[in-house]
Amino acid sequence: MEKKQIQKIIDVNRLLLQQFGIPKQNSVQPSPLDMLIGTILSQNTNDKNSYQAYKNLKTKYPKWEEAHKAGRVSIEKEIRIAGLGYQKSKAIMEVLNGLNKRFGKYSLDDIIGNNDEMILTQLTAFKGIGVKTASCVLLFALGRNVCPVDTHVHRTVNRLRIVNENTPDKTFKKLNENFPPKIAHSFHTNLIRLGREICKPKSPSCGICPLFDLCHYELKNSTSTKITEQKSFMLLDNI
Ligand code: SF4
Repeated sequence: MEKKQIQKIIDVNRLLLQQFGIPKQNSVQPSPLDMLIGTILSQNTNDKNSYQAYKNLKTKYPKWEEAHKAGRVSIEKEIRIAGLGYQKSKAIMEVLNGLNKRFGKYSLDDIIGNNDEMILTQLTAFKGIGVKTASCVLLFALGRNVCPVDTHVHRTVNRLRIVNENTPDKTFKKLNENFPPKIAHSFHTNLIRLGREICKPKSPSCGICPLFDLCHYELKNSTSTKITEQKSFMLLDNI
C-alpha cells in the first residue's frame, strides 16, 4: 500500500474512535482453538446465535476431545441455532481430526510461535477454514496486528478507496501488506460497526457518516448533506 493509503487508515481509525470509542476487548484472551471454532460458528449468523451455539457445544463437551469423539452428527445437534449445521460441524471435525493427527492433541499451541503468514497458511490448510476465520484467530486470540476482512470491512475500505479490490480475500492481502502498527483491533471492530449501522450495503447513510470528508465512493449520497449542515439549515429556518 502507498503512504497515502496508510495515512488514510490512520485517519479513519482516529475518526471512528471519536465516533464509537475504543472497542471492548475480552479481559481473558480465548485460546486459539476456542477462537477458531467460535469463528466457524459465527459465519452467516448473528453474534447472539453463534454465542449460544458455542455455549451449547462447550456445555455438552467441555473438552474438544469429547466433541471429536462424539462425532459430526452430535456436534451438529448442539450448534443448530447458528445455522449451516452440516457445514459448520464438518469444518469443526476437520480441524479436530487434523489437530489430532498432526499434533496428537486438541490445541493450536504448537503453531502460535510462528509468524502471521505461516499461521494463516497452517490454519487455511484445514478444509472449511478461510482467510477471514484464520485472521480472526491472529487478531483476537493471538493479539497480532492483523485486520480480518469480512463483508463489512471489504465494502467500506473499498468505498473509502483505501484499496480497490473485488473480493474480500484480495482486500485482506492488500490491506495487510503494511498495516499501520497497533490499530488493527480498533480499526477492524469499529469499521464493522460503521458497516452495520451507517455504511450499509444498499443505502449508506452518508449524511451522518463520520468519514464523509475522506470518502471517495462515487455513489456517495451527495443529496444528503452532512447532518451538521442539515441541522444548521433547520436552525436558520426556525429563526
Ligand atoms: S460517506 Fe457514505 S459511502 Fe462513504 S464511508 Fe461513509 S457511509 Fe460509506
